[in-house]
Amino acid sequence: MGSSCSRSEKEGHDHVGEALKTNPLEKTHSKIVKRHQTYPHTARPADAFHSKRMETPYDTVAALDAIVDARARNPAKADVKRPEEDGKTAFGRMKDVAEYYAHREELQRHEDVLSFDFRCKMKASQRERHANLILQKLRTRDEQRYREAPKRIGYGGQEHGCFAGDRFLTNRTLIEQMDLFRVARRLPKGAHLHIHFNACLLPSVLLNIAKGMDRMFITSNIPLVAADDYISFRRCEIQFKILSEENEKPGNLFSAAYEKDQTMPFQEFIRRFPQELGPVDDYLIGKVVFQEGEANGSLQTAHGAWEKFNGKTRMMKGLFNYETAYRRYTQALLQDFIDDNIQYAEIRPNFMDTNQLWSDDGKRRINNEGIMEIIMQEYDRFQKKTHGYFGGLKIIYCTPRSFSNDQVRFALDQCLEFKQRWPTWIAGFDLVGEEGMGSPLKQFVPEFLAFRKKCEEADVSIPFLFHCGETQEWGTDTDANLLDALLTGAKRIGHGFALAAHPYIMAHMKKQNICLEVCPISNEILGLANRMMGHTMYSLLANDVHCTVNSDNGTMFQ
Ligand SMILES: [Zn+2]
Repeated sequence: MGSSCSRSEKEGHDHVGEALKTNPLEKTHSKIVKRHQTYPHTARPADAFHSKRMETPYDTVAALDAIVDARARNPAKADVKRPEEDGKTAFGRMKDVAEYYAHREELQRHEDVLSFDFRCKMKASQRERHANLILQKLRTRDEQRYREAPKRIGYGGQEHGCFAGDRFLTNRTLIEQMDLFRVARRLPKGAHLHIHFNACLLPSVLLNIAKGMDRMFITSNIPLVAADDYISFRRCEIQFKILSEENEKPGNLFSAAYEKDQTMPFQEFIRRFPQELGPVDDYLIGKVVFQEGEANGSLQTAHGAWEKFNGKTRMMKGLFNYETAYRRYTQALLQDFIDDNIQYAEIRPNFMDTNQLWSDDGKRRINNEGIMEIIMQEYDRFQKKTHGYFGGLKIIYCTPRSFSNDQVRFALDQCLEFKQRWPTWIAGFDLVGEEGMGSPLKQFVPEFLAFRKKCEEADVSIPFLFHCGETQEWGTDTDANLLDALLTGAKRIGHGFALAAHPYIMAHMKKQNICLEVCPISNEILGLANRMMGHTMYSLLANDVHCTVNSDNGTMFQ
Protein backbone atom coordinates (compact mmCIF):
# COMPACT_ATOMS: atom_id res chain seq x y z
CA MET A 1 0.00 0.00 0.00
CA GLY A 2 2.84 2.34 0.90
CA SER A 3 4.40 2.04 -2.52
CA SER A 4 1.18 2.58 -4.43
CA CYS A 5 0.39 5.70 -2.38
CA SER A 6 3.77 7.18 -3.00
CA ARG A 7 3.50 6.32 -6.70
CA SER A 8 0.26 8.23 -7.13
CA GLU A 9 1.68 11.21 -5.25
CA LYS A 10 4.65 11.13 -7.57
CA GLU A 11 2.41 10.98 -10.61
CA GLY A 12 0.45 13.90 -9.22
CA HIS A 13 3.60 16.00 -8.96
CA ASP A 14 4.75 15.05 -12.46
CA HIS A 15 1.37 15.99 -13.77
CA VAL A 16 1.54 19.40 -12.14
CA GLY A 17 5.03 19.82 -13.53
CA GLU A 18 3.66 19.04 -17.02
CA ALA A 19 0.88 21.61 -16.58
CA LEU A 20 3.31 24.26 -15.39
CA LYS A 21 5.38 23.73 -18.50
CA THR A 22 2.46 24.18 -20.88
CA ASN A 23 0.31 26.73 -19.01
CA PRO A 24 1.89 30.20 -19.09
CA LEU A 25 -0.67 31.51 -16.61
CA GLU A 26 0.34 28.93 -14.03
CA LYS A 27 3.96 29.64 -14.72
CA THR A 28 3.53 33.34 -13.94
CA HIS A 29 1.46 32.50 -10.90
CA SER A 30 4.10 30.15 -9.53
CA LYS A 31 6.59 32.97 -9.42
CA ILE A 32 4.59 34.95 -6.91
CA VAL A 33 2.84 32.19 -4.90
CA LYS A 34 4.51 29.30 -3.15
CA ARG A 35 4.50 26.24 -5.40
CA HIS A 36 2.42 24.01 -3.16
CA GLN A 37 -0.50 26.43 -3.36
CA THR A 38 -0.69 26.08 -7.14
CA TYR A 39 -1.89 22.48 -7.37
CA PRO A 40 -4.86 21.65 -5.22
CA HIS A 41 -7.07 18.92 -6.75
CA THR A 42 -9.60 21.41 -8.02
CA ALA A 43 -7.11 23.89 -9.42
CA ARG A 44 -7.77 23.28 -13.10
CA PRO A 45 -11.28 22.06 -13.89
CA ALA A 46 -10.41 22.47 -17.58
CA ASP A 47 -7.81 19.75 -17.22
CA ALA A 48 -9.88 16.84 -18.54
CA PHE A 49 -7.33 14.18 -17.76
CA HIS A 50 -7.03 15.33 -14.16
CA SER A 51 -10.75 15.59 -13.40
CA LYS A 52 -11.51 12.25 -15.06
CA ARG A 53 -8.93 10.60 -12.87
CA MET A 54 -10.36 12.18 -9.74
CA GLU A 55 -13.84 10.86 -10.53
CA THR A 56 -12.72 7.31 -11.18
CA PRO A 57 -13.64 6.01 -7.70
CA TYR A 58 -17.33 6.64 -8.42
CA ASP A 59 -17.23 4.00 -11.15
CA THR A 60 -17.63 1.42 -8.37
CA VAL A 61 -21.32 2.42 -8.21
CA ALA A 62 -21.81 0.92 -11.67
CA ALA A 63 -19.98 -2.25 -10.61
CA LEU A 64 -22.18 -2.58 -7.51
CA ASP A 65 -25.33 -1.93 -9.56
CA ALA A 66 -24.34 -4.79 -11.86
CA ILE A 67 -24.09 -7.09 -8.81
CA VAL A 68 -27.46 -5.86 -7.55
CA ASP A 69 -29.00 -6.57 -10.97
CA ALA A 70 -27.57 -10.09 -11.08
CA ARG A 71 -28.62 -10.91 -7.52
CA ALA A 72 -32.06 -9.44 -7.84
CA ARG A 73 -32.59 -11.57 -10.94
CA ASN A 74 -31.22 -14.72 -9.47
CA PRO A 75 -32.21 -16.30 -6.18
CA ALA A 76 -35.67 -14.82 -6.03
CA LYS A 77 -37.01 -12.07 -8.18
CA ALA A 78 -36.46 -9.15 -5.85
CA ASP A 79 -38.15 -6.03 -7.08
CA VAL A 80 -35.15 -3.82 -7.66
CA LYS A 81 -34.91 -1.15 -10.33
CA ARG A 82 -31.61 0.43 -11.19
CA PRO A 83 -31.78 4.18 -10.42
CA GLU A 84 -31.73 6.16 -13.63
CA GLU A 85 -29.81 9.05 -12.18
CA ASP A 86 -27.78 9.81 -9.10
CA GLY A 87 -29.35 11.21 -5.95
CA LYS A 88 -27.99 14.70 -6.47
CA THR A 89 -29.63 15.09 -9.89
CA ALA A 90 -32.86 13.42 -8.77
CA PHE A 91 -33.25 15.62 -5.70
CA GLY A 92 -33.09 18.73 -7.87
CA ARG A 93 -36.23 17.80 -9.79
CA MET A 94 -38.29 15.96 -7.17
CA LYS A 95 -41.91 17.11 -7.15
CA ASP A 96 -42.83 16.24 -3.59
CA VAL A 97 -41.98 14.33 -0.40
CA ALA A 98 -43.63 11.16 -1.74
CA GLU A 99 -41.22 11.08 -4.66
CA TYR A 100 -38.32 11.63 -2.28
CA TYR A 101 -39.34 8.64 -0.14
CA ALA A 102 -39.85 6.43 -3.20
CA HIS A 103 -36.32 7.23 -4.30
CA ARG A 104 -35.04 6.64 -0.80
CA GLU A 105 -36.72 3.25 -0.63
CA GLU A 106 -35.16 2.21 -3.93
CA LEU A 107 -31.71 3.17 -2.71
CA GLN A 108 -32.24 1.25 0.53
CA ARG A 109 -33.31 -1.82 -1.47
CA HIS A 110 -30.05 -1.71 -3.40
CA GLU A 111 -28.13 -1.60 -0.15
CA ASP A 112 -30.13 -4.58 1.16
CA VAL A 113 -29.47 -6.66 -1.96
CA LEU A 114 -25.74 -6.20 -1.48
CA SER A 115 -25.83 -7.28 2.17
CA PHE A 116 -24.34 -10.64 3.11
CA ASP A 117 -27.64 -12.08 4.35
CA PHE A 118 -29.71 -11.15 1.28
CA ARG A 119 -29.53 -14.60 -0.31
CA CYS A 120 -30.37 -16.28 3.02
CA LYS A 121 -33.42 -14.09 3.49
CA MET A 122 -34.66 -14.54 -0.05
CA LYS A 123 -34.22 -18.31 -0.08
CA ALA A 124 -35.54 -18.91 3.45
CA SER A 125 -38.23 -21.57 3.76
CA GLN A 126 -41.44 -20.98 5.69
CA ARG A 127 -40.04 -22.81 8.71
CA GLU A 128 -36.85 -20.75 8.59
CA ARG A 129 -38.82 -17.52 8.45
CA HIS A 130 -40.86 -18.70 11.42
CA ALA A 131 -37.69 -19.59 13.35
CA ASN A 132 -36.33 -16.12 12.60
CA LEU A 133 -39.49 -14.55 14.03
CA ILE A 134 -39.01 -16.51 17.25
CA LEU A 135 -35.36 -15.40 17.43
CA GLN A 136 -36.38 -11.77 16.96
CA LYS A 137 -38.91 -12.08 19.80
CA LEU A 138 -36.28 -13.63 22.07
CA ARG A 139 -33.92 -10.84 21.14
CA THR A 140 -36.47 -8.20 22.12
CA ARG A 141 -36.99 -9.96 25.47
CA ASP A 142 -33.24 -10.19 26.06
CA GLU A 143 -32.80 -6.51 25.30
CA GLN A 144 -35.41 -5.74 27.94
CA ARG A 145 -33.42 -7.86 30.43
CA TYR A 146 -30.31 -5.82 29.69
CA ARG A 147 -32.23 -2.63 30.32
CA GLU A 148 -33.52 -3.97 33.64
CA ALA A 149 -30.08 -5.12 34.87
CA PRO A 150 -28.53 -3.05 37.69
CA LYS A 151 -26.81 0.06 36.39
CA ARG A 152 -23.07 0.47 36.71
CA ILE A 153 -21.69 3.55 38.39
CA GLY A 154 -19.02 5.46 36.51
CA TYR A 155 -17.06 8.67 36.91
CA GLY A 156 -18.74 11.21 39.18
CA GLY A 157 -21.51 8.78 40.06
CA GLN A 158 -22.90 8.68 36.49
CA GLU A 159 -25.20 5.72 36.00
CA HIS A 160 -24.57 3.49 32.99
CA GLY A 161 -27.29 1.15 31.78
CA CYS A 162 -26.48 -2.30 30.41
CA PHE A 163 -26.85 -3.09 26.72
CA ALA A 164 -26.18 -6.10 24.51
CA GLY A 165 -23.34 -4.52 22.53
CA ASP A 166 -21.24 -3.73 25.60
CA ARG A 167 -17.84 -5.32 26.26
CA PHE A 168 -17.78 -9.08 26.56
CA LEU A 169 -16.17 -9.24 30.02
CA THR A 170 -18.63 -6.60 31.27
CA ASN A 171 -21.63 -8.57 30.02
CA ARG A 172 -20.37 -12.12 30.47
CA THR A 173 -22.60 -13.14 33.37
CA LEU A 174 -25.62 -11.41 31.80
CA ILE A 175 -25.02 -13.15 28.46
CA GLU A 176 -25.29 -16.53 30.15
CA GLN A 177 -28.78 -15.64 31.39
CA MET A 178 -30.04 -14.69 27.93
CA ASP A 179 -32.38 -16.80 25.81
CA LEU A 180 -30.44 -16.06 22.63
CA PHE A 181 -27.29 -17.48 24.24
CA ARG A 182 -29.12 -20.68 25.17
CA VAL A 183 -30.39 -21.02 21.60
CA ALA A 184 -26.95 -20.17 20.16
CA ARG A 185 -25.28 -22.89 22.24
CA ARG A 186 -27.58 -25.52 20.77
CA LEU A 187 -27.53 -24.34 17.17
CA PRO A 188 -25.36 -26.46 14.86
CA LYS A 189 -22.17 -24.49 14.22
CA GLY A 190 -20.58 -26.47 11.42
CA ALA A 191 -16.81 -25.90 11.57
CA HIS A 192 -14.62 -24.29 14.22
CA LEU A 193 -11.65 -23.07 12.21
CA HIS A 194 -9.58 -20.92 14.55
CA ILE A 195 -8.83 -22.35 17.97
CA HIS A 196 -5.40 -22.60 19.60
CA PHE A 197 -4.94 -26.02 21.10
CA ASN A 198 -3.30 -24.73 24.30
CA ALA A 199 -6.23 -22.49 25.24
CA CYS A 200 -9.57 -24.05 24.38
CA LEU A 201 -10.92 -25.36 27.69
CA LEU A 202 -11.77 -23.90 31.07
CA PRO A 203 -8.57 -23.75 33.18
CA SER A 204 -10.27 -25.76 35.94
CA VAL A 205 -9.99 -28.85 33.72
CA LEU A 206 -6.19 -28.61 33.66
CA LEU A 207 -5.87 -27.52 37.30
CA ASN A 208 -7.82 -30.59 38.41
CA ILE A 209 -5.56 -32.89 36.39
CA ALA A 210 -2.46 -31.09 37.77
CA LYS A 211 -3.60 -31.65 41.37
CA GLY A 212 -3.24 -35.39 40.90
CA MET A 213 0.31 -35.21 39.48
CA ASP A 214 3.14 -36.07 41.92
CA ARG A 215 5.77 -34.34 39.80
CA MET A 216 3.84 -31.09 39.23
CA PHE A 217 5.63 -28.03 40.63
CA ILE A 218 4.83 -24.34 40.83
CA THR A 219 7.22 -21.38 40.52
CA SER A 220 6.94 -17.60 40.75
CA ASN A 221 9.04 -14.62 39.70
CA ILE A 222 8.65 -13.00 43.16
CA PRO A 223 7.91 -14.25 46.74
CA LEU A 224 4.20 -14.35 47.65
CA VAL A 225 3.96 -12.64 51.03
CA ALA A 226 1.26 -11.17 53.23
CA ALA A 227 3.50 -8.30 54.38
CA ASP A 228 2.75 -6.19 51.26
CA ASP A 229 -0.98 -6.57 51.75
CA TYR A 230 -0.95 -9.50 49.32
CA ILE A 231 -0.07 -7.24 46.37
CA SER A 232 2.61 -9.76 45.39
CA PHE A 233 -0.13 -12.38 44.93
CA ARG A 234 -1.67 -10.21 42.24
CA ARG A 235 1.55 -9.04 40.60
CA CYS A 236 3.44 -12.33 40.44
CA GLU A 237 3.79 -14.42 37.32
CA ILE A 238 3.19 -18.04 38.19
CA GLN A 239 4.28 -21.03 36.15
CA PHE A 240 3.69 -24.76 36.39
CA LYS A 241 6.30 -27.39 35.58
CA ILE A 242 6.49 -31.16 35.47
CA LEU A 243 9.97 -31.86 36.82
CA SER A 244 12.17 -34.87 37.45
CA GLU A 245 13.95 -35.01 40.85
CA GLU A 246 17.28 -33.76 39.47
CA ASN A 247 15.61 -30.63 38.04
CA GLU A 248 13.99 -29.52 41.31
CA LYS A 249 15.22 -26.29 42.96
CA PRO A 250 13.29 -26.46 46.25
CA GLY A 251 11.94 -23.22 47.71
CA ASN A 252 8.92 -21.88 49.60
CA LEU A 253 6.87 -19.45 47.50
CA PHE A 254 5.24 -18.05 50.68
CA SER A 255 8.56 -17.04 52.28
CA ALA A 256 10.26 -13.65 51.82
CA ALA A 257 13.50 -15.59 51.22
CA TYR A 258 12.06 -17.27 48.10
CA GLU A 259 14.19 -16.80 44.98
CA LYS A 260 12.83 -16.53 41.44
CA ASP A 261 12.10 -19.90 39.77
CA GLN A 262 12.63 -22.03 42.88
CA THR A 263 10.21 -24.94 42.74
CA MET A 264 7.49 -25.96 45.19
CA PRO A 265 5.34 -29.11 44.79
CA PHE A 266 1.89 -28.02 43.58
CA GLN A 267 0.20 -30.19 46.21
CA GLU A 268 2.18 -28.42 48.94
CA PHE A 269 1.31 -25.01 47.44
CA ILE A 270 -2.38 -25.90 47.72
CA ARG A 271 -1.99 -26.98 51.38
CA ARG A 272 -0.12 -23.83 52.42
CA PHE A 273 -2.11 -21.27 50.40
CA PRO A 274 -3.35 -18.51 52.79
CA GLN A 275 -6.98 -19.09 53.74
CA GLU A 276 -7.65 -15.35 53.94
CA LEU A 277 -7.44 -15.19 50.14
CA GLY A 278 -10.26 -17.67 49.62
CA PRO A 279 -10.18 -20.89 47.58
CA VAL A 280 -6.85 -21.54 45.88
CA ASP A 281 -8.65 -22.59 42.67
CA ASP A 282 -10.36 -19.20 42.39
CA TYR A 283 -7.01 -17.48 42.83
CA LEU A 284 -5.27 -19.54 40.15
CA ILE A 285 -8.15 -19.40 37.66
CA GLY A 286 -8.35 -15.65 38.24
CA LYS A 287 -4.71 -15.40 37.14
CA VAL A 288 -5.22 -17.42 33.95
CA VAL A 289 -8.35 -15.70 32.66
CA PHE A 290 -8.60 -12.03 31.76
CA GLN A 291 -10.32 -9.90 34.38
CA GLU A 292 -12.57 -7.05 33.30
CA GLY A 293 -10.28 -4.32 34.63
CA GLU A 294 -7.25 -6.03 33.14
CA ALA A 295 -8.65 -5.93 29.60
CA ASN A 296 -10.88 -2.84 29.73
CA GLY A 297 -8.86 -0.51 31.99
CA SER A 298 -8.56 3.00 30.59
CA LEU A 299 -4.74 2.74 30.47
CA GLN A 300 -4.72 -0.65 28.76
CA THR A 301 -3.38 -0.88 25.21
CA ALA A 302 -3.29 -3.63 22.60
CA HIS A 303 0.38 -4.26 23.40
CA GLY A 304 -0.30 -4.18 27.16
CA ALA A 305 -3.09 -6.73 26.73
CA TRP A 306 -0.72 -8.92 24.70
CA GLU A 307 1.84 -8.74 27.55
CA LYS A 308 -0.82 -10.07 29.90
CA PHE A 309 -1.88 -12.63 27.32
CA ASN A 310 1.69 -13.93 26.96
CA GLY A 311 2.03 -14.28 30.76
CA LYS A 312 -1.20 -16.26 30.89
CA THR A 313 -0.03 -18.43 27.99
CA ARG A 314 3.19 -19.22 29.90
CA MET A 315 1.08 -20.17 32.94
CA MET A 316 -1.13 -22.43 30.81
CA LYS A 317 1.84 -24.04 29.11
CA GLY A 318 2.99 -25.90 32.21
CA LEU A 319 -0.52 -27.09 32.97
CA PHE A 320 -0.74 -28.61 29.55
CA ASN A 321 2.68 -29.82 28.42
CA TYR A 322 2.84 -33.32 29.86
CA GLU A 323 1.43 -36.52 28.51
CA THR A 324 -1.51 -37.17 30.86
CA ALA A 325 -2.83 -33.62 30.53
CA TYR A 326 -2.35 -33.60 26.78
CA ARG A 327 -4.28 -36.85 26.38
CA ARG A 328 -7.14 -35.96 28.75
CA TYR A 329 -7.28 -32.46 27.32
CA THR A 330 -7.72 -33.82 23.78
CA GLN A 331 -10.62 -35.99 24.95
CA ALA A 332 -12.22 -33.15 26.92
CA LEU A 333 -11.88 -30.81 23.96
CA LEU A 334 -13.69 -33.20 21.64
CA GLN A 335 -16.48 -33.52 24.20
CA ASP A 336 -16.60 -29.73 24.45
CA PHE A 337 -17.03 -29.46 20.66
CA ILE A 338 -19.95 -31.87 20.84
CA ASP A 339 -21.51 -29.99 23.78
CA ASP A 340 -21.31 -26.77 21.74
CA ASN A 341 -22.81 -28.57 18.73
CA ILE A 342 -19.68 -28.13 16.59
CA GLN A 343 -19.40 -30.74 13.84
CA TYR A 344 -15.83 -30.30 12.59
CA ALA A 345 -12.70 -28.52 13.86
CA GLU A 346 -9.21 -27.56 12.80
CA ILE A 347 -7.04 -27.09 15.88
CA ARG A 348 -3.79 -25.12 16.04
CA PRO A 349 -1.11 -26.76 18.22
CA ASN A 350 2.29 -25.07 18.40
CA PHE A 351 5.13 -27.12 16.97
CA MET A 352 8.73 -26.14 17.66
CA ASP A 353 12.05 -27.82 17.15
CA THR A 354 12.70 -27.13 20.86
CA ASN A 355 9.56 -28.91 21.92
CA GLN A 356 8.41 -28.88 25.55
CA LEU A 357 6.02 -31.81 26.00
CA TRP A 358 7.16 -34.09 28.84
CA SER A 359 6.42 -37.56 30.07
CA ASP A 360 4.58 -37.52 33.44
CA ASP A 361 7.78 -38.14 35.42
CA GLY A 362 9.53 -35.21 33.72
CA LYS A 363 12.34 -37.45 32.48
CA ARG A 364 11.54 -37.86 28.77
CA ARG A 365 10.74 -35.29 26.11
CA ILE A 366 8.03 -36.06 23.59
CA ASN A 367 8.84 -34.67 20.13
CA ASN A 368 6.52 -33.18 17.50
CA GLU A 369 5.82 -36.60 15.96
CA GLY A 370 4.85 -37.79 19.45
CA ILE A 371 2.44 -34.85 19.82
CA MET A 372 0.78 -35.74 16.50
CA GLU A 373 0.48 -39.37 17.56
CA ILE A 374 -1.09 -38.48 20.94
CA ILE A 375 -3.75 -36.30 19.27
CA MET A 376 -4.52 -38.96 16.65
CA GLN A 377 -4.68 -41.78 19.22
CA GLU A 378 -6.98 -39.80 21.53
CA TYR A 379 -9.20 -38.82 18.62
CA ASP A 380 -9.56 -42.47 17.57
CA ARG A 381 -10.26 -43.48 21.17
CA PHE A 382 -12.91 -40.78 21.51
CA GLN A 383 -14.56 -41.70 18.22
CA LYS A 384 -14.71 -45.36 19.24
CA LYS A 385 -16.28 -44.40 22.56
CA THR A 386 -18.87 -42.13 20.92
CA HIS A 387 -19.44 -44.35 17.85
CA GLY A 388 -17.92 -41.81 15.47
CA TYR A 389 -20.26 -39.03 16.58
CA PHE A 390 -17.88 -36.15 15.86
CA GLY A 391 -17.60 -35.08 12.22
CA GLY A 392 -13.85 -34.67 11.89
CA LEU A 393 -10.67 -33.12 13.25
CA LYS A 394 -7.62 -31.71 11.46
CA ILE A 395 -4.43 -30.03 12.58
CA ILE A 396 -3.02 -26.71 11.43
CA TYR A 397 0.76 -26.78 11.86
CA CYS A 398 1.66 -23.61 13.82
CA THR A 399 5.02 -22.19 14.77
CA PRO A 400 5.90 -18.80 16.36
CA ARG A 401 6.38 -15.87 13.98
CA SER A 402 9.17 -14.66 16.28
CA PHE A 403 11.31 -17.57 15.06
CA SER A 404 14.34 -17.11 12.80
CA ASN A 405 14.18 -17.87 9.08
CA ASP A 406 16.04 -21.15 9.73
CA GLN A 407 13.53 -22.20 12.37
CA VAL A 408 10.60 -21.35 10.10
CA ARG A 409 12.26 -23.34 7.29
CA PHE A 410 12.56 -26.30 9.67
CA ALA A 411 8.87 -25.96 10.58
CA LEU A 412 7.76 -25.78 6.92
CA ASP A 413 9.83 -28.86 6.07
CA GLN A 414 8.39 -30.74 9.03
CA CYS A 415 4.86 -29.66 8.10
CA LEU A 416 5.41 -31.15 4.63
CA GLU A 417 6.86 -34.32 6.17
CA PHE A 418 3.78 -34.65 8.43
CA LYS A 419 1.44 -34.07 5.48
CA GLN A 420 3.10 -36.87 3.54
CA ARG A 421 2.97 -39.15 6.57
CA TRP A 422 -0.56 -38.27 7.71
CA PRO A 423 -2.23 -36.76 4.61
CA THR A 424 -5.73 -36.55 6.08
CA TRP A 425 -4.59 -34.78 9.23
CA ILE A 426 -2.63 -31.69 8.18
CA ALA A 427 -4.97 -28.87 7.12
CA GLY A 428 -2.46 -26.06 6.62
CA PHE A 429 0.42 -23.97 7.93
CA ASP A 430 0.37 -20.81 10.07
CA LEU A 431 2.67 -18.45 12.00
CA VAL A 432 1.41 -17.31 15.42
CA GLY A 433 2.15 -14.61 18.02
CA GLU A 434 1.71 -10.85 18.35
CA GLU A 435 1.88 -9.40 14.84
CA GLY A 436 2.96 -5.94 15.97
CA MET A 437 6.22 -7.27 17.46
CA GLY A 438 7.93 -7.62 14.08
CA SER A 439 8.72 -10.62 11.88
CA PRO A 440 6.22 -9.72 9.15
CA LEU A 441 5.29 -12.37 6.59
CA LYS A 442 7.43 -10.69 3.91
CA GLN A 443 10.51 -11.67 5.94
CA PHE A 444 9.83 -15.35 5.22
CA VAL A 445 9.05 -15.13 1.50
CA PRO A 446 12.17 -17.13 0.47
CA GLU A 447 11.10 -19.95 2.84
CA PHE A 448 7.48 -19.83 1.60
CA LEU A 449 8.56 -20.00 -2.05
CA ALA A 450 10.90 -22.95 -1.38
CA PHE A 451 8.08 -24.68 0.51
CA ARG A 452 5.63 -24.19 -2.36
CA LYS A 453 8.16 -25.70 -4.77
CA LYS A 454 8.76 -28.70 -2.51
CA CYS A 455 5.00 -29.24 -2.12
CA GLU A 456 4.55 -29.19 -5.90
CA GLU A 457 7.38 -31.67 -6.35
CA ALA A 458 5.84 -33.92 -3.71
CA ASP A 459 2.39 -33.43 -5.30
CA VAL A 460 0.74 -32.34 -2.06
CA SER A 461 -1.29 -29.27 -1.26
CA ILE A 462 -0.78 -27.48 2.08
CA PRO A 463 -2.60 -24.14 2.21
CA PHE A 464 -1.29 -21.17 4.15
CA LEU A 465 -3.79 -20.13 6.83
CA PHE A 466 -1.92 -17.10 8.15
CA HIS A 467 -2.76 -14.92 11.11
CA CYS A 468 -2.78 -11.44 9.58
CA GLY A 469 -4.50 -8.09 9.85
CA GLU A 470 -4.77 -8.58 13.64
CA THR A 471 -3.83 -4.94 14.10
CA GLN A 472 -5.07 -1.36 14.21
CA GLU A 473 -1.95 -0.15 12.42
CA TRP A 474 -2.18 1.31 8.94
CA GLY A 475 0.60 1.50 6.39
CA THR A 476 3.14 -0.52 8.40
CA ASP A 477 4.83 -3.87 7.79
CA THR A 478 2.40 -5.43 10.27
CA ASP A 479 -0.57 -4.13 8.36
CA ALA A 480 1.01 -5.27 5.08
CA ASN A 481 0.83 -8.90 6.21
CA LEU A 482 -2.57 -8.88 4.48
CA LEU A 483 -0.79 -8.15 1.20
CA ASP A 484 1.66 -11.02 1.69
CA ALA A 485 -1.09 -13.43 2.72
CA LEU A 486 -2.84 -12.58 -0.56
CA LEU A 487 0.34 -12.90 -2.64
CA THR A 488 1.36 -16.21 -1.08
CA GLY A 489 -2.03 -17.65 -1.95
CA ALA A 490 -3.47 -18.06 1.58
CA LYS A 491 -6.69 -20.07 1.57
CA ARG A 492 -8.03 -18.45 4.73
CA ILE A 493 -6.67 -15.75 7.03
CA GLY A 494 -6.82 -15.59 10.82
CA HIS A 495 -8.59 -12.39 12.01
CA GLY A 496 -8.27 -9.99 9.04
CA PHE A 497 -9.45 -7.19 11.37
CA ALA A 498 -7.56 -4.57 9.33
CA LEU A 499 -8.90 -5.75 5.97
CA ALA A 500 -11.79 -3.28 5.98
CA ALA A 501 -9.24 -0.46 5.61
CA HIS A 502 -7.80 -1.97 2.42
CA PRO A 503 -10.46 -1.97 -0.32
CA TYR A 504 -8.15 -3.22 -3.07
CA ILE A 505 -6.79 -6.19 -1.11
CA MET A 506 -10.31 -6.86 0.15
CA ALA A 507 -11.62 -7.01 -3.44
CA HIS A 508 -8.87 -9.47 -4.36
CA MET A 509 -9.58 -11.62 -1.33
CA LYS A 510 -13.27 -11.74 -2.25
CA LYS A 511 -12.41 -12.65 -5.83
CA GLN A 512 -10.14 -15.47 -4.65
CA ASN A 513 -12.74 -16.72 -2.15
CA ILE A 514 -10.36 -16.22 0.77
CA CYS A 515 -12.27 -16.76 3.97
CA LEU A 516 -11.70 -14.82 7.22
CA GLU A 517 -11.49 -16.59 10.56
CA VAL A 518 -12.91 -13.71 12.59
CA CYS A 519 -12.42 -13.84 16.38
CA PRO A 520 -14.47 -10.93 17.77
CA ILE A 521 -14.13 -11.58 21.52
CA SER A 522 -10.38 -12.07 21.19
CA ASN A 523 -10.09 -8.80 19.23
CA GLU A 524 -12.01 -6.90 21.87
CA ILE A 525 -10.01 -8.28 24.80
CA LEU A 526 -6.68 -7.82 23.02
CA GLY A 527 -7.50 -4.17 22.37
CA LEU A 528 -8.44 -3.96 18.66
CA ALA A 529 -12.12 -3.12 19.08
CA ASN A 530 -13.31 -1.02 21.98
CA ARG A 531 -16.69 -2.74 21.99
CA MET A 532 -18.19 -5.54 19.95
CA MET A 533 -20.41 -3.13 18.03
CA GLY A 534 -17.28 -1.31 16.82
CA HIS A 535 -15.74 -4.48 15.34
CA THR A 536 -14.79 -4.31 11.65
CA MET A 537 -16.63 -7.61 11.09
CA TYR A 538 -19.82 -5.65 10.38
CA SER A 539 -18.10 -3.62 7.71
CA LEU A 540 -16.52 -6.77 6.24
CA LEU A 541 -19.89 -8.53 6.12
CA ALA A 542 -21.51 -5.47 4.57
CA ASN A 543 -18.85 -5.77 1.89
CA ASP A 544 -19.78 -9.42 1.43
CA VAL A 545 -16.41 -10.77 2.59
CA HIS A 546 -16.52 -14.45 3.56
CA CYS A 547 -16.34 -14.58 7.37
CA THR A 548 -16.47 -17.35 9.94
CA VAL A 549 -16.79 -16.69 13.69
CA ASN A 550 -14.26 -18.32 16.03
CA SER A 551 -13.09 -18.29 19.64
CA ASP A 552 -9.26 -18.08 19.24
CA ASN A 553 -8.22 -18.63 22.90
CA GLY A 554 -11.43 -19.30 24.81
CA THR A 555 -9.66 -20.36 28.03
CA MET A 556 -8.31 -16.92 28.73
CA PHE A 557 -11.41 -15.02 27.71
CA GLN A 558 -13.54 -16.79 30.38
ZN1 LIG B 1 -5.27 -16.98 16.78
